[in-house]
Amino acid sequence: MPTTVTAYAAPSAAAPLVKTTIERRDVGAHDVLIDIKYAGVCHSDIHTVRGEWGPREFPLAPGHEIVGIVAEVGPEVTKYKVGDRVGVGCMVNSCGECANCKAGEEQYCAKGMTETYGSVDRDGSITQGGYSTQVVVIEDFVLAIPDGLELDVAAPLLCAGITTYSPLHHWGAGPGKKVAIVGLGGLGHMAVKIAHALGAEVTVLSQTLSKKDAGIALGADHFYATSDPETFAALAGQFDLILNTVSAVIDINAYLSLLALDGALVSVGAPAEPLAVNAFSLIGGRRTFAGSLIGGIRETQEMLNFCAEHKLGSEIELISADQINEAYERVLKSDVRYRFVIDGATIA
Ligand code: NAP
Ligand code: ZN
Repeated sequence: MPTTVTAYAAPSAAAPLVKTTIERRDVGAHDVLIDIKYAGVCHSDIHTVRGEWGPREFPLAPGHEIVGIVAEVGPEVTKYKVGDRVGVGCMVNSCGECANCKAGEEQYCAKGMTETYGSVDRDGSITQGGYSTQVVVIEDFVLAIPDGLELDVAAPLLCAGITTYSPLHHWGAGPGKKVAIVGLGGLGHMAVKIAHALGAEVTVLSQTLSKKDAGIALGADHFYATSDPETFAALAGQFDLILNTVSAVIDINAYLSLLALDGALVSVGAPAEPLAVNAFSLIGGRRTFAGSLIGGIRETQEMLNFCAEHKLGSEIELISADQINEAYERVLKSDVRYRFVIDGATIA
């Protein structure tokens, strides 16, 4: 018999989230049952429940920045025990057999990863996310939260942390590299912290200067407003790497002009509409325009360990679950410093 748990879910793409119940499967041999303590609020939750990324089945409980305490483990589980501090990110399964899965890049599974919510699970049910009191996940997709990271500030690392850590690593952010972060929201603020900890020279490109002091405190060396056309003239040809974390369409060609020879602009921001690229924006400086999707399980654990070592928690605003719709509106207005996190105790 599946267990019924309390959750906040969207009844349809047009409706606000409401308190409801969802079902969790029985704890199987390789499963871990987690009492959810905190759940981060990602802009992807909003894109998804509002149908911007295509139709979904409803009701849908979002949430893929999950941290909590292990409450029960299946008989074959070896990595975790009751009482452990754990996390779950954007995926809960993958085929495990394709080249990408074998390489530890399960997010690029050839058969498609199983997303934490809104995906068809192996048993045919639709996965439901972390805005809930408990979740059941196979142990291979559960992460250990290292000592030294408080659970509430660790929650956003499960998506915002790994989504920025992975491309920063892949494209070589480090000493001697000039890195720009576009958009200082949930992903952007973690990108600044991580790029700074990796030793890169970090520039924030934000719509206005309103977050300048905060951005410098997060580890940025420079901070510019993109609403000021002078910014694009002043920074032309400067950066080795630009990480675009913006949730809306921006003028990609203007940002490509800020890359140095052989520089790369990597988009992790995922607006529904296309980002138009002029061929000459790339040809001129042998530039690369790329994308990146979260990170594999092994790299996610590496990121959590890195963040614990460097004391890099997320900057959060803790909310109660009944404030979720208001929080969504504030995220849409770029009025978030820098991640809303739901206190799991308020979900029940
Ligand atoms: P967020 O907290 O809303 O941050 C986005 C930031 O972009 C805002 O804070 C704002 O920063 C800037 N921005 C928003 N609207 C803008 C506009 N019209 N023009 C210019 N700048 C604008 O969102 P998030 O949770 O960090 O997510 C960001 C994007 O990444 C979303 O599209 C999300 O779906 C996507 N995402 C992708 C992955 C992946 O694996 N690739 C994973 C997670 C999330 P300023 O106020 O500083 O300008
Ligand atoms: Zn996310």
